[in-house]
Amino acid sequence: MKTAIIDDFLRFYGEKRGLKIYKSSTAKFRNSIFLLIRENLERKLVIFHSASKAIDDMINRFQASETGEFLIDGKTRIGYKICPCNPHNAVLMREVFTFTRPKLVGLAPAIGTGDRIGLATPGHIRALKSFCIFPVFAQQSVREMDRTSRKPEEVLDDVTWAVFQEGYRGGFGADADHVKILSDLDAAAKAGFKMYTIDPSDYVNNRADTYNLSVLRLEFEKLPWKEMGCEKEAFLKAYLGKEFCITVSGEEKTFKFSEESLLRAAVKYSAAILHMARMHRHLKKIFGRRKFDVELSIDETETQTSHLEHYFIISELKRLGIRITSLALRFVGRFEKAIDYIGDLKEFEESFKLHVSIARAYGLYKLSIHSGSDKFAIYPILGKYASDIVHLKTAGTSYLEALRVVARNDPSLFREIVDYSLKVFDRDRKSYHMSTDLSSIPESSRVPDEDLEKVFLGENNARQLLHITYGSILTAKNDGEWLFRDRIMKVLIENEEEHYETVARHIKRHVEMLWDQTKC
Ligand code: ZN
Repeated sequence: MKTAIIDDFLRFYGEKRGLKIYKSSTAKFRNSIFLLIRENLERKLVIFHSASKAIDDMINRFQASETGEFLIDGKTRIGYKICPCNPHNAVLMREVFTFTRPKLVGLAPAIGTGDRIGLATPGHIRALKSFCIFPVFAQQSVREMDRTSRKPEEVLDDVTWAVFQEGYRGGFGADADHVKILSDLDAAAKAGFKMYTIDPSDYVNNRADTYNLSVLRLEFEKLPWKEMGCEKEAFLKAYLGKEFCITVSGEEKTFKFSEESLLRAAVKYSAAILHMARMHRHLKKIFGRRKFDVELSIDETETQTSHLEHYFIISELKRLGIRITSLALRFVGRFEKAIDYIGDLKEFEESFKLHVSIARAYGLYKLSIHSGSDKFAIYPILGKYASDIVHLKTAGTSYLEALRVVARNDPSLFREIVDYSLKVFDRDRKSYHMSTDLSSIPESSRVPDEDLEKVFLGENNARQLLHITYGSILTAKNDGEWLFRDRIMKVLIENEEEHYETVARHIKRHVEMLWDQTKC
């Protein structure tokens, strides 16, 4: 019956208008059928219903741009509503089809796949649907949203439509990433996000690493003890001189705080942990009895998190009654955007496996790996020690894969993007730790079309250039018109299968190297 309706609708409506039908989206709701189509560049929702009965109340609530009727089998009257994929209808879709709503991630191993343009999620779905790794398709930091002029609702809506388009029913998460202030929690919660990555890095005292013992003692005295909810003496007693024992690869390892290391950890992190507590209280107020996931991220601090500091942070969160589902530490080495891990792999392995042992011994939480895309050198290590407790976050790498599709299909637009990126790089690089050398990047006009992809997306310096300028590229305007955004989207939509497959191949490579054996 479904196929007959779609075929007859196409005959009646589609042939003259050159429609694309997303057959994988077809879904039943009560006595109606929903599916997505694309007409020119615009994706639209079509709802079929019986024309001889009253229309269901729920279906009446969908905003339509067009309605009508056609006959199937020459006698049965079918009504149709063609609806824009707008925010109002996205909210209704989440009411009607539970699989388009974000779910809790919990303690499952997970991968976040940020989508900065809003067209990559079908590629992420294709990459991840055959693995037992929980996907977090909606994942966007406040900084990314600012830079791309997107709102939390738009991020979630794009994922809702993509999940529906692909007919994906496996569940997904929505992570409001790197949230620093209370009002950003409200905005993400209002949109429907269920996971909150709280970033209190503005409250981390990075200078603590350089203080000598007498300065540390003074700073320790000045900590906000009242807000920390304990007496200084009790705090010292809880940590000083005690041994913390963990087993690492069958061997017992003992940690002990000296006065200096304890004071340093307390001075460095206490204000940040208190801010985390404030944010957590606010989330509890918003969610009431409903559940949510919380991650604490201190990956964007200047110095690496020591093992003692990891233990300290976890202990303080417990003392304050804050339960997290994941923790993003600042690991040894460099996690620069768009390129592989920089650092000594042996040193990373030794350090990481100790962090894993602490997480296993003292908590029920995962280790979150930020700036995790393209870090192929460390995936075997992450998989070896922590495949069951890793949450890997990738974001900008899908934007680079989109640019790969632009380079292949519209070389002159790609050259314009490279040239504009060079102009804005110095301004855009400010919030990132990067070692990019622009002098090694050739002039785009000298590179033939067929080499653009290799030269600009296969080489580290050019990859970083393109990766961090995404915000400027996606929001640049000329006389009120987008300079690149619409043209990039047009190329991606006109070549959407190529775009999805390109993104899928790249993300799959990440998962296969990290979670080798977890294919379902
Ligand atoms: Zn991060």
